[in-house]
Amino acid sequence: MSKKHTFQTEINQLLDLMIHSLYSNKEIFLRELISNASDALDKLNYLALTDSKLKDLQFQPRIDLSFDEKKKTLTIQDNGIGMTQEELISHLGTIAKSGTKSFLSSLSGDKKKDSALIGQFGVGFYSAFMVADKVVVQTKKAGEKQAHTWVSDGKGEYEISECLKDSQGTQITLYLKDEDANFASRWEIENIVKKYSEHIPFPIYLSYTQSKFEGEGEEKKEIKEDKVEQINNAKAIWKMSKNELKDEDYKEFYKSFAHDNTEPMRWVHTKVEGTLEYTTLFFIPSVAPFDLYRVDYKSGVKLYVKRVFITDDDKELLPQYLRFVRGVIDSEDLPLNVSREILQQNKVLANIRAASVKKILSEIESIAQDDGAYQKFYTQFGKVLKEGLYGDYENKERLLNLLRFPTSKHSQSISLKTYKENMPTDQKSIYYMIGENLELLKASPVLEKYAKKGYEVLLMSDEVDGFVIPSVGEYDKLPLKDASAAETLKELGEDSVSQEVQKSFEKLIATFKEALGDQVKDVVLSASLDSPVALVGDEQNAMMANLMRQMGQEPPIAKKTMELNSTHPILEQLKDKEDKELISNTAHLLYASAKLLESGTIEDAKDFAHRLNQTILKTL
Ligand code: ADP
Ligand code: MG
Repeated sequence: MSKKHTFQTEINQLLDLMIHSLYSNKEIFLRELISNASDALDKLNYLALTDSKLKDLQFQPRIDLSFDEKKKTLTIQDNGIGMTQEELISHLGTIAKSGTKSFLSSLSGDKKKDSALIGQFGVGFYSAFMVADKVVVQTKKAGEKQAHTWVSDGKGEYEISECLKDSQGTQITLYLKDEDANFASRWEIENIVKKYSEHIPFPIYLSYTQSKFEGEGEEKKEIKEDKVEQINNAKAIWKMSKNELKDEDYKEFYKSFAHDNTEPMRWVHTKVEGTLEYTTLFFIPSVAPFDLYRVDYKSGVKLYVKRVFITDDDKELLPQYLRFVRGVIDSEDLPLNVSREILQQNKVLANIRAASVKKILSEIESIAQDDGAYQKFYTQFGKVLKEGLYGDYENKERLLNLLRFPTSKHSQSISLKTYKENMPTDQKSIYYMIGENLELLKASPVLEKYAKKGYEVLLMSDEVDGFVIPSVGEYDKLPLKDASAAETLKELGEDSVSQEVQKSFEKLIATFKEALGDQVKDVVLSASLDSPVALVGDEQNAMMANLMRQMGQEPPIAKKTMELNSTHPILEQLKDKEDKELISNTAHLLYASAKLLESGTIEDAKDFAHRLNQTILKTL
């Protein structure tokens, strides 16, 4: 009895893509199916140790490949965990896993890029349909009696029926399309396995038939011999010693491990012996994983205990701000039956984690020795690294040293160390300004005040800056201060005008205050501006706003003080005018343009245009 099922809509879309457009690098289908087989072996390894039902299981994990040139078939078989009927439906027919949806929504239209994403998104199985017009999955779940067959041509439907299968595990047969029949060949398969699956930690065997000829002339006979050959080295690369391994080995392992076609930027391989015994192998990718900024990002680190895979779904193995790191932690000290739930409170793991963070930070510090290389790293991962300032107090100083910012003086980003070295002797704080984007920050009138003193200001325009920087406090004994806050501005020294000037502006200031009402906190004169006006906030407000944002609330708009440049021709001339409407309109226009410089937008564009028109008309 077989039963027809229909694929969920998104799966259909995905299959359509696989079949019709994502074929720039077809061979990766084999990497994906072998990777699934390897996962299935990992899972059974773990269950065999932890599930009492399976303790009698005789189990030599292996993956077997075979092919038939004439029938144009290719078969991938494992003796891993297998699937039940329900699992066949949910794993191979629905988007129960989040991967499919995010994959579809991340497609760029660039086929090469898109097909590189297949493995990362957990839609690897479906890549079989890039080369096959029919796929048959026969599977038996470990510990169950009944086996099932799943068949589909990738066009909307699949069928499931009961079948006979001796041992647990999964066998997938691909009926290759005519144009992909080349994959049913020994040479092709060996090459692909060497390229992508050399370091899968289980043996991969290839069966093939070899013809030999015996005798001469009339007597000549063809003898066919079946052979089985292991075609990968099947060593857990992280367990090998460094001098056994070449750069190529690490790179190839990374590519299959991380489902990434680009080479890793760096790797750190560490073997620790002593009170704790463990091995770690971490990779820093060259390109950020697609889900770096998604809340449902996938952890890139797998935990093993004595080479037995435990989990790849523990986001606590490394701190979140290192979530771009890929790799393996293999501990000798954890119990094999450690439940995934209690991992988080485990002391051994906490120690490994702390040491791993230090190792990875050292590696990043070593990248930072070379400006060019570090720029590449920083463009990909700088923003994520900053998140560490919020939470990883232990490594705060090291993280701060890894940050780079453009400044009011340098277009090239600099470190806090360089900033400090460049400071004039009378400067007592590190100044920063946070804003929408770099262009706006550079245009800020507030910077003029710092420029006059010869002080440099760090310009920060990443969203995360607003969350983490105000809580940093200090760097190398110097306080970090918001350059646009009134309290900070006081540090720059006297900014007052003579009583005489003050008096001559009294009427103008009163009219400004009346016109702007509660849009501003106050209107005052300044002697340290080049621009006509500047808006100055206060630090308390900025901190409060930050706290509120961290708690998920939108802070109220904080009122700012408007500073007027007493020597600017606009204000000098305006103060002697009697036309109240003109003064009021100018007040609004100056305020709006200051806001524009701050945020890139004008709140009431209609009002702005109206006043501008009126003012222009007056001058004509
Ligand atoms: P991913 O491997 O990222 O989960 P895939 O599309 O490659 O995504 O596979 C989908 C799911 O199908 C797997 O998570 C697994 O549950 C199941 N699966 C695929 N191949 C096998 C296999 N050989 N043995 C057992 N389960 C498998
Ligand atoms: Mg997979």
